[in-house]
This record gives sequence, C-alpha cells and structure tokens, in this order.
Amino acid sequence: ENKVERIKNAIRDVPDFPKEGILFKDITPVLQNAELFALSVELFADVLKNTNIDVVAAVESRGFIFGAALALKLNKGFVPIRKPGKLPYKTFKETYELEYGTDALEIHQDAVKTGQKVVLIDDLLATGGTAVAAAQLIERCGGQIASICFLIELTFLEGIKKLEGYPVQTLIKF
Ligand code: IMP
Repeated sequence: ENKVERIKNAIRDVPDFPKEGILFKDITPVLQNAELFALSVELFADVLKNTNIDVVAAVESRGFIFGAALALKLNKGFVPIRKPGKLPYKTFKETYELEYGTDALEIHQDAVKTGQKVVLIDDLLATGGTAVAAAQLIERCGGQIASICFLIELTFLEGIKKLEGYPVQTLIKF
C-alpha cells in the first residue's frame, strides 16, 4: 500500500454534512494518526521540493492544520487567510459565490511582501471558489502564487477549471 493510498483509505465519508445531500470528506482520522498526519505533510513537501517558496499561506480552518505543519517543515513563515472579522489588523477582502449566496475571506494587507513567492494550502478542492478568492488576496498583497496545493480534490466538481493559469497540485483524488 503506497503513501497516498494509506491516507486515502483513512479519509471518512460523512453523508448529509453540513447539509442534506452533501457527502463530506472527513480528514480527522488522518490527523489523529501520528504516522498518517506526518505522511500527509511529507506529501505536500514532496510535491513542492522543486518549487521556490518564500512563505506558506492557508485558509481557515483545516487548511491551517496542514499549512502550519508544512511551514515548519519547510522552515518558512505562515500567513493565515480567514473569514471576515477575525483578523485584527488592516485587511483586504474578497467575496466569492457559494451555491446559495456568498462568502468572503480576508488577509492582512502586510502579510505578504511584493514579489514574495507564496504556496497556498487547503485541505480540499471542491468548486474552487475558496481557492480563487484566497489566491486573489495573496496577489492583492503583491505576492506571486508559486503553487496551490490540496490534500484532496473532488474531481467531479471540476474546481480545477476555475484555477486555470495557476500551478495546482492535488495529492489525493476522489
Ligand atoms: P470550494 O470553495 O467549493 O472549493 O470548497 C472548498 C472549501 O470548502 C475548502 O476550504 C474545504 O475545507 C471546504 N470543504 C468543502 N467540501 C468539503 C469536504 O467534503 N470536506 C472537507 N472540507 C470541505
């Protein structure tokens, strides 16, 4: 059993969460297993080994778990991208479409310096709306997207199409 398969097998399907009709991919069994958690962070580091990176950014809240661990492993700083009203200093804000309504993300205006190469981490790529908004926030700070990495890609939602033009790496596909 290879590394990817071992992590894939530990991801749990939860039906009707957070709403009826949605099959939620639950990564908590990966996190609670020391070996699998370490392996998942190693996989991120592996796919990025030839990428020039200044800083790691991630979207709250599951993105923080992998993003912070990866930043430590790569000896890079960490930039949090959060839901509105959570970050204390001056922020940029991007609004994006959900199936019903809109949502938004914020970044500190000084979180990324002009020209810095940023890797964006999240646990899962679904429609791609979250990642596009997060990438735009990094660019508004003057950062360059070196890579966007996901532990999981739900390929049937074709979120990858929204991320055209960005280098995207996904570790596990469903
Ligand atoms: P998107 O914007 O539609 O691509 O949704 C991706 C965002 O929603 C990510 O930040 C994920 O953490 C979260 N998400 C959506 N579906 C799932 C799921 O099945 N499991 C875990 N997170 C999910």
